[in-house]
Amino acid sequence: MLYRKSFQNSSILFLEEGDTATVVTTQRGKEFLNYLVPKGGVPLGGIVNVPIRSKIVLGVVWSNGQSSQTSYKKKKISKVLDLPILKSEVRNFLQKSSEYNLFSLNAALRLCLNPNLNLEKSYYNYFYVVGCEKIGKLTPQRKRVLDILSSKRKEQIGKSELIRKSKVSEAVIRGLEKKGHITKISVPINDNFAAIQATFSATLSKYQKKVSENLRSKVKSESYSTTMLKGVTGSGKTEVYMDAIAEAILLGRQVLVLFPEISLSTTFVERLKNRFKFGFAEWHSTISKKEKRRILKSILDGSLKIIFGARSAVFLPFDDLGLIIVDEEHDSSYKQEEGLRYHGRDMAVLKGLYSEAAVILVSATPSLETWVNVLEMKYNGEVLPERFGNATLPKVSLVDLRVNGLERNKWLSKEIIERVSWQIKKKQQSLLFLNRRGYTPVLICESCFEILTCKSCDAKLAEHKLFQALLCHLCGARYPSPKFCPSCHNESSYVPIGPGIERIEEETRSLFPDARIELLSSDHYNSLEDLKECFGRITSGEVDIIIGTQLISKGHNFPFLSFVGVLDVDLALKGGDIRAAENTFQLLRQVIGRAGRFEISGEAYIQTYFPEDPVMKALCAYDDEIFMTKQKNLRELARVPPFGRMVALIISSSVHEVAMKFAKDLTKEMFSLQKYDVEIHGPADARISKIRKKYRVRILLKAPKIVPIQSLLKNILVKTKLQRTINLTIDVDPINFY
Ligand code: ADP
Ligand code: ZN
Repeated sequence: MLYRKSFQNSSILFLEEGDTATVVTTQRGKEFLNYLVPKGGVPLGGIVNVPIRSKIVLGVVWSNGQSSQTSYKKKKISKVLDLPILKSEVRNFLQKSSEYNLFSLNAALRLCLNPNLNLEKSYYNYFYVVGCEKIGKLTPQRKRVLDILSSKRKEQIGKSELIRKSKVSEAVIRGLEKKGHITKISVPINDNFAAIQATFSATLSKYQKKVSENLRSKVKSESYSTTMLKGVTGSGKTEVYMDAIAEAILLGRQVLVLFPEISLSTTFVERLKNRFKFGFAEWHSTISKKEKRRILKSILDGSLKIIFGARSAVFLPFDDLGLIIVDEEHDSSYKQEEGLRYHGRDMAVLKGLYSEAAVILVSATPSLETWVNVLEMKYNGEVLPERFGNATLPKVSLVDLRVNGLERNKWLSKEIIERVSWQIKKKQQSLLFLNRRGYTPVLICESCFEILTCKSCDAKLAEHKLFQALLCHLCGARYPSPKFCPSCHNESSYVPIGPGIERIEEETRSLFPDARIELLSSDHYNSLEDLKECFGRITSGEVDIIIGTQLISKGHNFPFLSFVGVLDVDLALKGGDIRAAENTFQLLRQVIGRAGRFEISGEAYIQTYFPEDPVMKALCAYDDEIFMTKQKNLRELARVPPFGRMVALIISSSVHEVAMKFAKDLTKEMFSLQKYDVEIHGPADARISKIRKKYRVRILLKAPKIVPIQSLLKNILVKTKLQRTINLTIDVDPINFY
């Protein structure tokens, strides 16, 4: 029997002892399992331990044993954990997201509760302080330890930090502890986050003020809404949405801020600190397990108000979420491409719906999906039309390579070279942008035209002088440079085709031998610290020329940067993907936006063989409206998202025939979908037909939006037997087609 009971300060539905409860666990297998309710009852949404075979696993009481899909286990729930319940809004969100993305509810619950954190545990942090035993003569090592401890009286120093700072062995610490010269103290670490202060910006411009008021009123309504916040880089989008955050805090609700590349957004953390002092936490892969446990508990009980996280944070079990911000909402890294596939932005909107929260999608170049939703009045639109203060937008010009072609094996046009030397004279920085790592993307044999490829993947090998090796950009495998061609056995016959940033560096150095040059790509830093140092050198003006990949486009302010030269985008433009034009436009706008964010006005040159391309025109004229309308019309005609739905099925196996046979059989099963107007494309070898020794076959489904393709597909998939040697990945709303 369900009955209402006061629990954790609110009234909650409870199941009585002896009732049957339907539990969803974080374990693979059946989604719903029935268990007997133990003494004391269990609340709906209660986080529990249940036995499965010989194991005890984490789960949540989902409903009162009425579900027809359950398998009955006559076993008792082992334990109701001393944690707040998972609210119905969170449970409903998880259920919906698992249905939408076609992954299991168990997997969704794993994303939510992170069972590997052992939520039940409470841990201690250990610190050292100077002990009270009288100290006589000391060895230099022991003295160093004590000096450090006494100089840092206010800070808490743990063992590893103490060892590192005083450069002693662990035995020295143990010795001091034994003598009572230092003492270990323990502090429980699941103490709550401090209360937070909310303040509003006092210096908003006229436009900003209006947008801030509109966003705040959305938050105040405490109901679901989604708003696109568009504005060029530097227009104050962050400044304004911080006001919306403050509003949610005043209401006592929680806030989730999502960033695509969170580890790179150090400036944002500083800004959060300045505004809200404390009471926020970061959530991403480099946060320690201990800290994550503390954060997760404080999210559950509602004491932690602001989470700044990567896409997976959208699944966290908030107590009362009132606002979700998706910064750089157009960024393709919101799409999880490995393991469970989902789109972080779309899940954020779904989460907002179930949490009765305001959602703000922020971008200088919104995705077409978002843009269309504003046109169709499903989302609100707010625009910040100009840069804040005196900063103006960089002027964009094209360098037409058909007119003044490049010299053989040279990649910098006369125009760009002249501009860079002018920049150096004016003590200003230049950024040369090329989205290609390494020295050259392809090596070819001059005598037999053989191209070097990876042994495990369908990919050409790129030469990296930095590593003195050839690299596969798909699987990361490294190969030594070949002494002779494996095909025609000619010696040293390999020549590079086309440039990567290392080759641009070579050319730049020969042109500007005295310039200070910094390379910026994922290969050029080993740790986040390295990268921060590199950003530091650029910010303080110790660099004249930056040569970088898209890593440079992510949210950094470089005060001396006032010129951007885009070297080659034509390849990206002709990618043949439905989003190629849109993505190139977004990336270049962002890269160009790096220039002149401060007092000096910036300029950008784009080298191209296709100056007539709509992307080029839109970039020069800052005419987003015309560009987006064109893209929209193209996609509408082709019945592709957001005007139709797509689901990709990727079948992989180490034996090509096995993958293809399974794909063909599955396709036959799916023929029944054609009566719903679903188009089936394939099966066919994927564009990249082999990755890590696995052959890949793809099937693409295109369905009208009103067709519930996910549930139709699920009905087919539950009947399919998957052999061990086959891997099936389902990608709803795919953004990659290789
Ligand atoms: P965006 O998020 O649109 O790129 P930001 O909010 O980062 O813009 O603003 C760009 C720069 O201008 C930042 O350095 C920010 O501190 C400053 N800024 C913007 N609006 C204001 C304001 N109203 N008062 C003070 N500084 C502002
Ligand atoms: Zn490879």
